[in-house]
Amino acid sequence: MSHNAQATGLDPTLVAELAAIAGSDGIVSRSAELKVYECDGWTIEKCSPDLLVMPRTTEQVSAVLKALWRREVAFVPRGAGTGLSGGALPVNAPVMICTSKMNRILSIDLANRRVEVQSGVVNLHVTNAVKRDRFLYAPDPSSQQACTIGGNIAENSGGPHTLKYGVTTNHVLGVTLVLADGEIVELGGPAEERCGYDLLGAVVGAEGTAGIVTRAVLKIIREPEGHRTLLATFADVEAATHAVSAIMASGIVPSAIEMMDQLIIRAVEDAFHVGLPAEAGAVLIIELDGLVAGLDEHAARVTEIACHNGASGVRLARDETERAGLWKARKRAFGAVGRLAPNYATQDGVVPRTRLPDILRTIQVISRKYGLAIGNVFHAGDGNIHPIVLYDERKPEEVRKAIAAGREILIACVEMGGSLTGEHGIGVEKQGEMPLLFSPEDLIAMSELRHVFDPLERSNPNKVIPRPGSCVEVAAPHRQVPI
Ligand SMILES: Cc1cc2nc3c(=O)[nH]c(=O)nc-3n(C[C@H](O)[C@H](O)[C@H](O)COP(=O)(O)OP(=O)(O)OC[C@H]3O[C@@H](n4cnc5c(N)ncnc54)[C@H](O)[C@@H]3O)c2cc1C
Repeated sequence: MSHNAQATGLDPTLVAELAAIAGSDGIVSRSAELKVYECDGWTIEKCSPDLLVMPRTTEQVSAVLKALWRREVAFVPRGAGTGLSGGALPVNAPVMICTSKMNRILSIDLANRRVEVQSGVVNLHVTNAVKRDRFLYAPDPSSQQACTIGGNIAENSGGPHTLKYGVTTNHVLGVTLVLADGEIVELGGPAEERCGYDLLGAVVGAEGTAGIVTRAVLKIIREPEGHRTLLATFADVEAATHAVSAIMASGIVPSAIEMMDQLIIRAVEDAFHVGLPAEAGAVLIIELDGLVAGLDEHAARVTEIACHNGASGVRLARDETERAGLWKARKRAFGAVGRLAPNYATQDGVVPRTRLPDILRTIQVISRKYGLAIGNVFHAGDGNIHPIVLYDERKPEEVRKAIAAGREILIACVEMGGSLTGEHGIGVEKQGEMPLLFSPEDLIAMSELRHVFDPLERSNPNKVIPRPGSCVEVAAPHRQVPI
């Protein structure tokens, strides 16, 4: 049994009450075990919770939050911990509430094309549950084998197929939300159209600051009749990004256009041997889907555009195995990067698609300035970049440089008319940069919206919205190296 009330700084009667609600296997308090939860995919900042609670039902979540509310204890929701902006870091939140035991698919309604799930269900498991009937859940983050629907809702997650199908908010019909005081509210519902203020829309992307989502009603879509998946090879990223703009300008909307630069191609090829051209400066994975009629013409047209923009070759995946290989390479690219350096920080910014060549040139300059290698693998069709900054956390100077390089990249995105995040959220990572995009009045308005759900900021405190006048980067005590 992992329950050890003595090890936490919390009132033992609270720990006992929570154990009574969640069961002794639904609570972890030994510091060695809590180390597992000290960070998410943003590993530059770390701090362990005092206690982890893993409820199984909405009612248990409500009872847990009521107990915390009475004792004025803040909490942080957590799904699978794959977040890349430190959203699940327990900053000033002694209790972490993890949805890993809330992993049931509650109902499947093919006629209405919807699925009802507990929020801890893994993204891919939703598609797996309806695959036999040739349906799928469209938002497919590259972490879909691990990340949860609750985490996707909190981050308004995207993924490779966002280009055609949209982000999570386009696929959520309703949620059950437990507010910080334990009240259970229903937002949205089974119907497609709603009236009144879009409170559901405010919760999707709230990064756990509105309360804990325990249940969601999701739209599923018919599996496309066919796919054509192309691999286009370029001498450099600049040519590849011009090809992206040209494809989009042609009026064809691929379901995905993903780019990998040379550093990433080599890492992925070494790891998975899927036949990527190891010497290429950049590749695009371009996927078209829909009715089979017309797909070949679109594929031919995309090939023509890519070649016209400097592609030295375009290869069509011959069968499902080849297609799956390409997607495996893309979706596991972050993992493959682990071979290149002890640590890496995955950035997430957006620029207007036509500014991709500019931002990639800027990233090269920043890479040289800080002497840190930066690889690029990203959703090019959306203008959503993911520069991966390689560093070694044993060298404090490199950690500082990695943080500074990431910040410069985000500033450049904003200057080019883009935004601070395409899909990974603000978390703790980008709080300091929020004033680049928003005025003090904007930030106050956001706080007021947050207070509608959580007036005392007990749910995921100190996240997303910086406090006026605070310098988050200097203040962050959980950051490995203060800068
Ligand atoms: C290899 C890799 C690839 C990735 N690719 C993509 C990608 O293509 N697209 C993309 O968008 N993201 C991607 N991500 C980022 C990450 O997977 C997503 O942000 C994902 O939605 C996080 O889900 P999670 O369950 O791991 O959430 P966590 O990391 O556990 O939490 C993320 C945030 O959600 C909050 N939260 C979690 N559950 C709930 C809940 N039930 N109620 C309220 N708040 C909650 C947490 O407090 C936190 O703020 C990737 C990450 C990795 C590691």
